[in-house]
Amino acid sequence: MALTDLTAEQSITAIAAGRTSSEDLVRAHLERVEHDDWNNFLAVNREAALARAREIDAMPQRPPLAGVPIAIKDALSTRDLTTTAGSRILEGFRPIYTATCVARLEAAGAVVIGKTNMDEFAMGSSCENSAYGPSLNPWDTTRVPGGSSGGSASAVAARQAPWSLGSDTGGSIRQPAALCGIVGVKPTYGAVSRYGLIAFASSLDQVGPFARTVRDAALLLQSMVGRDPMDTTSLDWPDPIVLPTAGRLDGVRVGVIEELMGEGIEPGVRAACRAALRRVESLGGTVVPIELPHASYGLATYYLIAPAECSANLARFDGIRYGRRAEATDDLLEHYERTRGEGFGPEVKRRIMLGTFALSSGYYDAYYGQAQRVRTLIVRDFAAAFAEVDVLASPTSPTVAFRLGERTADPLSMYLSDVCTIPVSLAGLPSLSIPCGLSDGLPVGLQLAGPAFSENRLFDVAHALEAAIGFDPSPPGVTA
Ligand code: GLN
Repeated sequence: MALTDLTAEQSITAIAAGRTSSEDLVRAHLERVEHDDWNNFLAVNREAALARAREIDAMPQRPPLAGVPIAIKDALSTRDLTTTAGSRILEGFRPIYTATCVARLEAAGAVVIGKTNMDEFAMGSSCENSAYGPSLNPWDTTRVPGGSSGGSASAVAARQAPWSLGSDTGGSIRQPAALCGIVGVKPTYGAVSRYGLIAFASSLDQVGPFARTVRDAALLLQSMVGRDPMDTTSLDWPDPIVLPTAGRLDGVRVGVIEELMGEGIEPGVRAACRAALRRVESLGGTVVPIELPHASYGLATYYLIAPAECSANLARFDGIRYGRRAEATDDLLEHYERTRGEGFGPEVKRRIMLGTFALSSGYYDAYYGQAQRVRTLIVRDFAAAFAEVDVLASPTSPTVAFRLGERTADPLSMYLSDVCTIPVSLAGLPSLSIPCGLSDGLPVGLQLAGPAFSENRLFDVAHALEAAIGFDPSPPGVTA
């Protein structure tokens, strides 16, 4: 087997057995990163990664992640390594510190090989809003990998890295994981420090793993969670994350979100999800229909709250403190206008305008305030559902990977890509996507969600299903 076909766990075992070294692993992946057919990388960390790999290889006692390479979404700050958030306004920007979650992984022995492409400031569902051109889907390069963490998902599917980090505000880990046929996890809000994550919508943003197996995803999350004094919304993690081993689902109650299994969901997606739910029953679990009466307001709620928060967060890009600066002018206001006019792409501008409007005096209560009230109703829907079931299931994305350009002219059709993932985000709950089959030769994702801090339970259920489904995460045509 080629080194780039190994999962992270297999790589750690191979290193421990002396069958390979971190340096060889890092080199093999870097080669695929440098011959990038999918435009997945915005920065490559070749020399520093190789140096770090050699350093880890020389350690008498290896750290737990043993020098396994990782790709990082370009929304996460990495000291001295270019970080652009997919935007022109941050072209060439080199942060002076590293995000806590990345620093924790590095301390645990992961080696950062590069920064991955993304929709500008994580706004989008296809990676087409990147200022640096879209990433492509390894299953079919005429199609999008999903977004906004498209490069991170595509890189793992294309074997440029065994695992990677993304960030998820309304679906940006789960949806691209679904479209690329891999596992993606959005942890409980607060589980992973946001310090060093370039903010989009702070009450929703969460960092999480992509991997080709559920166990790899759990292993990565294990090394990231926990309180960070630099992020006051980060939480003490109650129980350690345990790698799943259980094979059965006896006694597990799975609720199917009926609103997300009907109209608007492609028949092939629905069929693959139904088939996965039958596996739940054959593994000993029960499947019951569940209603979330306010879930259908999720999209409208999100598109008020997220733009409102982004309009505040993105005010810091003024051409003075960070990144790109427009040509000098004597007028301060004109300086801001030119810098932001040149630096931001159309979707980011649209969100800033929407958010500024929703927060403006006279409209604040009608839009932002109302959205917050609906958010509370959605939170209550989930609480009521979890009084009856352990886990909720739905498709992750209403469709399989769509064609490049298919939705760019119509923002609303793009926004609908996240109709299944957004309600969970608004409630701050953990959820993940696992591949559950193919439709028209393209991967379909099944979303599983649970109450806050139920990551271990989610990993158990996902792992049991993954084994029963036996999905092969190898896109045809992607060869080592
Ligand atoms: N597609 C959604 C948006 O554009 C979600 C993005 C995300 O999760 N970062 O806002």
